[in-house]
Amino acid sequence: MAERGVAGYRARQIWSWVIDRRAERFETMTDLPRALREELDLTFEIFTTETITRSVDDDGTTKLLLSCRDGETIETVLMAEGSRRTVCVSTQVGCGMGCVFCASGLKGVVRNLTRGEILEQIVRQRNALREGERVSHVVVMGMGESLANLDELLAALEVVCAPAPLGLGLSQRRVTISTVGLPDKMRKLAELDRRYHLAVSLHAATESLRDRLVPISHKVGLGAVIDAADRYFEQTGRQVTFEYVLLGGVNDRGEDARALAELMSTRSAHVNLIPYNPVAGLEFERPSDAAVERFTAILKSRSVSVTVRKTKGRVIDAACGQLRRRTADAGSELFQGDPLGTARE
Ligand code: SAH
Repeated sequence: MAERGVAGYRARQIWSWVIDRRAERFETMTDLPRALREELDLTFEIFTTETITRSVDDDGTTKLLLSCRDGETIETVLMAEGSRRTVCVSTQVGCGMGCVFCASGLKGVVRNLTRGEILEQIVRQRNALREGERVSHVVVMGMGESLANLDELLAALEVVCAPAPLGLGLSQRRVTISTVGLPDKMRKLAELDRRYHLAVSLHAATESLRDRLVPISHKVGLGAVIDAADRYFEQTGRQVTFEYVLLGGVNDRGEDARALAELMSTRSAHVNLIPYNPVAGLEFERPSDAAVERFTAILKSRSVSVTVRKTKGRVIDAACGQLRRRTADAGSELFQGDPLGTARE
């Protein structure tokens, strides 16, 4: 605006149109002079991504496939539960962590997303909500390792948590950042004086099993991850959640549950069990219902706070760990109509 000799407050006006009033085009910004709107329209684009497909599952889960300027695609998922509307965002194209059961890392990391690309996922999902609905929670659990792109993520979250009309007005407490467990970055996050909820993907309670499932663990070590989580709690007062993907026959046995209970017994933490969502081409299996029940019961009997995550968006491949699974190499199945016969525009 300054370069164009336009008053600075116009920039704030435009920003709040996009962030607060769901504008997707300059021409709808009716309190800007018409000539300025036309000039902006010729010179700028509001979004850097384009929506390629929007799939809605029977349970209301909505997956958006967005294409970036460089042709890479990213996915974001909205989950509905009562009045909750939770947006799950991606932070990278691909992922460099290589967890052996996860689809996102099969081909490594391509690049970090920009703050704009991260923010747009939430804004786009919000813009598609019905009147009266609002984004109530954000979970950074899509594609990518969140803390490997911490600076861009934090910049996007500043806007998410700033008050309206310049931000989306979400409380920091309603934002969950999920990490594979990068201790240095966890410490940095703890020191920022924010109240984000931290979720750490543990998946195993012993060094040897975790090394097998989460290759980065070799370098980092289970102990360092747990220490950094403890420190996050001390510093922020926010209880950490440990995520644990249950893989049938691999880490869902009684002894695994007892080892996890032991690890949790001395700390104030919460465990979120995620029954595995099978990924085509990978040999892991979903745990049996009995195994999930047994695992949960063992934790509960040792007074560990535990929940089991519900699978949502299974039909449209929007469930945990499935992003990009169908679109990345199978290419355009989703764009060319609807192979599963269930996605609705
Ligand atoms: N890189 C971050 C975000 C990953 S996605 C992290 O590691 O936490 C969020 C969660 O989904 C992680 O706990 C991840 O391990 C888990 N996940 C990945 N693939 C999955 C699958 N196929 N089924 C269930 N959970 C999966």
